[in-house]
Amino acid sequence: MSVIAENLEKIHARIASAAGRVGRDPSGVLLVAVSKKCPPECVRAAVEAGQATFGESRVQEAKAKVSHLSGSLHWHLIGHLQTNKARDAVELFEMIQSVDSVRLARELDRWAERAGRRMAVLLECNVSGEGSKFGFKPDEVGAVLPELNAMQRLEIRGLMTMAPFFKDPQQARPAFRALRELRERLQQQQGIPLPELSMGMTNDFEVAVEEGATVVRIGTAIFGESRGAVCERGEPDA
Ligand SMILES: *Cc1c(COP(=O)(O)O)cnc(C)c1O
Repeated sequence: MSVIAENLEKIHARIASAAGRVGRDPSGVLLVAVSKKCPPECVRAAVEAGQATFGESRVQEAKAKVSHLSGSLHWHLIGHLQTNKARDAVELFEMIQSVDSVRLARELDRWAERAGRRMAVLLECNVSGEGSKFGFKPDEVGAVLPELNAMQRLEIRGLMTMAPFFKDPQQARPAFRALRELRERLQQQQGIPLPELSMGMTNDFEVAVEEGATVVRIGTAIFGESRGAVCERGEPDA
């Protein structure tokens, strides 16, 4: 078994225990393998281990990588998207998790219409209020949601957030809880279903699952700290 396959197996087991602790069905948690900075060989090793959904942070990097891989893979954009790359993003990705402005949403809607497709998106929310992070402020999402929801080609499936990094993952819990509560408020006030909550990374995904994550985005625990190295050496790196 490859190191990547072993890592994936361990993560699935950890997702299952976290889900079990709060009485959730682990099949309700999608693992997105974050393959940014990984060469295509690494992605291939993950595909061989049964992983089909991958997350990339940058359009240019994803474009180069996707062309090296075949099969029915699902690509999600998880990093900040500039409006001038919206067209490429609509071509490449099945879901854009990082919609952080109305202007970007408009561009995506426009290009999705040209491409004759619907584009699944998540609204990135900055629940921790860290200045360095992209995303809507929690108290502005309610005001923009009707406009976003009216965009014909966009399918708003839920919310995404990145918690601040803490050594102790328990400290990320309030951010995850805040995203879930925001989702619940928005659903109630606006009657718009927002089923997906994308939250949790290598350091804190178990806490995120306990707080209701339906999507976790994990890179380091699968591919190692220095990414590519894990599939070249064939040894654990994380
Ligand atoms: C890099 C990245 C991840 C994965 O982080 P790891 O700590 O390597 O698991 C998840 N989400 C976003 C938005 C990222 O940029």
